Amino acid sequence: MRYVKIKDEKVYEFLERLKNYGKLYAPVKISDKFYDRKEIDDVKKIAFEYIRTIMPAKKFFIPPKEEMFEIDIENGEYNEKLEEIESFVLFGMHPCEIVALRILDGIYMDEYADIYYTRRRKAGIIIGLSCLPDEYCFCNLRRTDFVDIGFDLFFHELPDGYLIRVGSPNGHKIIDENLDLFTEVNQQDIDAFREFEEKRQRMFRCYGSFDNIRYLLELTMQDKLWDEEAEKCFGCGNCTNTCPTCRCYDVQDIPNIDGKTGKRTRFWDSCQFRSHGLVAGGHNFRPTKKDRFLNRYICKNSYFYPLGTSYCVGCGNCTYFCPANIDFLGNLLKVRSTAEEVKNA
Ligand code: SF4
Ligand code: SF4
Repeated sequence: MRYVKIKDEKVYEFLERLKNYGKLYAPVKISDKFYDRKEIDDVKKIAFEYIRTIMPAKKFFIPPKEEMFEIDIENGEYNEKLEEIESFVLFGMHPCEIVALRILDGIYMDEYADIYYTRRRKAGIIIGLSCLPDEYCFCNLRRTDFVDIGFDLFFHELPDGYLIRVGSPNGHKIIDENLDLFTEVNQQDIDAFREFEEKRQRMFRCYGSFDNIRYLLELTMQDKLWDEEAEKCFGCGNCTNTCPTCRCYDVQDIPNIDGKTGKRTRFWDSCQFRSHGLVAGGHNFRPTKKDRFLNRYICKNSYFYPLGTSYCVGCGNCTYFCPANIDFLGNLLKVRSTAEEVKNA
């Protein structure tokens, strides 16, 4: 892998130049408590310190609402709405979200690729940024706390700048075209990189393995823990909307007033909604709140075999944004561990 360094005084210049490669999006602070990814006009507004955004990066590849094609019923035709997709740069992606995108790639770009997702994905340049965990993060348990592929460039914080790992041909091109901004990595930088990673590893809420969690969940589905936790749930769907790997959607054919034309639109859906498991004829595969609540736990803890990880990347968003204060990791720890271990976690 190729490594270069950028000093603090050159970082804003580099960010400004990134706009030559497409619209630049990065996290910005939008209130006392929240961050979101926005198109960047003033690079000094980029919030390098952010931990999570209110909407995960999936919104750039799977918009919450998307018109897929127009239908002409009278003539039996349809026109796909494939507008030109301009290239764009996502700066500041944390490791867990980069893995989340790779999970979405595995789903949307397999043998039967989703053309809408694929076109956006190919247009996106991914630039990672190192982070320190808060009490909601558990990417270490999911082995998604460090990425070796899935990015074009990855910025690792140093005391006086960033060590950059170059992860793709596009990344090499960007570095080569802006070589005047970079220096070589020296021994002090390597020591600082090592220290940052060691400090980061010491900051996680808990440690150990989650490899058997799916099976422990299945074996404990009758425990009263799940009745109690499901009872607290409002079924609002915040947990799935803010999850970087949740991708359920609903498709609706919406007729125009002429009754002859219309459009097919897809929207984000949530397994926490009663309508999610409802099928023609009125049968519901998950009729109770507890069914829906447990469905999410089982789904997120199932294995995504191509990456050897689970569908949950341990970002902590579902807990952070839950209005009922339901602690996703806390519940998994109760299933995994003895009561004593949980108390000390
Ligand atoms: S965010 Fe919390 S309250 Fe809302 S559906 Fe998810 S678990 Fe239930
Ligand atoms: S299930 Fe929760 S912690 Fe896991 S990836 Fe989704 S939002 Fe993040």
